[in-house]
Amino acid sequence: MLREDYQCRQCQAFFIPFNEDIQCPRCMVRATEDAIEEHAQFILDLVLVMQLNKARKGVFIPEQWPIGLLVNSVQLLMFEMFDALEQEKPKNKKKFFEKNIKSMALEGGDEFDGHLLDIALAVLELRIERGLDCINGN
Ligand SMILES: [Zn+2]
Repeated sequence: MLREDYQCRQCQAFFIPFNEDIQCPRCMVRATEDAIEEHAQFILDLVLVMQLNKARKGVFIPEQWPIGLLVNSVQLLMFEMFDALEQEKPKNKKKFFEKNIKSMALEGGDEFDGHLLDIALAVLELRIERGLDCINGN
């Protein structure tokens, strides 16, 4: 479990460097190697927690979730969004994510929306890879 949010070493923007391709959404600087390593399990952990919740309660969103860190808010947003995805079964999932991310804007504004989309798509990709995504379309 992450204990603090990562901040860009150049501009102090918050983001989640879950792989080496992720850049700061504000200034495009890459995260430190240590930070990338620390966040390398972020998507996998998220997918595993989602599956656990789904098996127990039938939904991705847990009854309780820590607050305080941006990373917690991002995880919560993903739970909500993937629950909505399974309900609405949109044909175009990327468009669905874009629309939902805009309406749930977290601190960071527009520049953060693209980062949230990257996270949502990474979660979706891993779910598809593991045969967990049951909705047709792309
Ligand atoms: Zn930056």
